[in-house]
Amino acid sequence: MAVIGAGLIGCGVAYELAKRGCAVSVYDRAEPARAASWAGAGMLAPYSEATDDDAMLALCREALAVYPAFVEELRERVGVDAHFGRAGALHVALDASRFFELATRADAYREAGAVVRVLDRAETLAREPLVARDVVGSLLIEDEAQIDNRRLGRALVAACEALGVHFKRVDDVVIEADARRVRGLRTARGFVSASVIVNAAGAWAGELAGVPDAARVPVRPIAGEMVALAIPNGAMRANVWLGHRYLVPRKDGRLLIGATMEERGYNTRVTAGGVYAMLDAALTVAPALAGSAVVETWAGLRCPVRRIHGPIWAEPCSTGTSSPQDTFEMVSFSRRLPRN
Ligand SMILES: Cc1cc2nc3c(=O)[nH]c(=O)nc-3n(C[C@H](O)[C@H](O)[C@H](O)COP(=O)(O)OP(=O)(O)OC[C@H]3O[C@@H](n4cnc5c(N)ncnc54)[C@H](O)[C@@H]3O)c2cc1C
Repeated sequence: MAVIGAGLIGCGVAYELAKRGCAVSVYDRAEPARAASWAGAGMLAPYSEATDDDAMLALCREALAVYPAFVEELRERVGVDAHFGRAGALHVALDASRFFELATRADAYREAGAVVRVLDRAETLAREPLVARDVVGSLLIEDEAQIDNRRLGRALVAACEALGVHFKRVDDVVIEADARRVRGLRTARGFVSASVIVNAAGAWAGELAGVPDAARVPVRPIAGEMVALAIPNGAMRANVWLGHRYLVPRKDGRLLIGATMEERGYNTRVTAGGVYAMLDAALTVAPALAGSAVVETWAGLRCPVRRIHGPIWAEPCSTGTSSPQDTFEMVSFSRRLPRN
């Protein structure tokens, strides 16, 4: 089987297939796990993502439930700990109307299955002392979590290699398919036959050469910029949200601040405006961060789906014939909202 794209999705698929005894090759034109999978904030936030798609929410909730065991399994196999942590998500209100809005949302989150608490000012500050002293209150989603996505990428690549997955660096991959089914892929090194090809090319998935129109994925890139500050280890515990901006503490002493959202093609520059907007939000929610060193800035490309809003489930894309074998099985992973 062939997987195109060695991000967390492609490596995750390859890992699970290899565990089940499949021979898998992963093709990427760049370093594995260095695109969006490296750029992300690593929040595991099914509720904060505010999806209104029940199936997507259920999938994210189930994924969150199995994450600790998945991370532990990888740590045991290859010795790389992806730092799963469940310190919750704290949505902060700096004025009374926002606090009312957050408190009103609590019941909806509970109905969706979340463990939620509404905290007053004193409780909020006791939980996160870096938060602004004039905070009015907050909404704590206790069961949201985070991983270190860069470490997870390293762990997955190593685990794949240990299982015999071949990583192939290629410049141009062209899918070869006839009107009935996929036949394989062509690279500068020649043709490789494959009966199943997984398109895990992230923000580029819609542009993969040779994909038949019926199986083309309608994604477009949405750039996201991030900033990291150095803070004393443990100074912040939860993922702290102010509106759609968030602060994510890492175990290595970095505090990630994210993220911008901009449609500007495949451009991953970090801009003055983006950095300003994120630092502004961070210093509003936690003014004490003003003296912190800026240690890193970066940007990556998310891949929300164009027209079809939501994950594209494993629906066969018919190419005009009726037998199940005459279809392109397509599973594409994307996001209801290009939120993080
Ligand atoms: C700033 C930012 C913050 C985010 N925060 C979060 C968060 O907190 N929580 C969360 O769940 N998600 C978050 N995300 C989203 C998350 O990072 C992505 O959904 C996830 O990493 C996508 O993984 P992927 O494997 O699909 O894509 P990628 O990691 O982008 O991998 C795609 C791979 O395909 C390769 N490729 C593309 N085209 C070709 C081709 N033609 N031939 C060969 N190789 C090709 C690329 O080189 C790349 O390696 C964030 C994203 C960004 C940008």
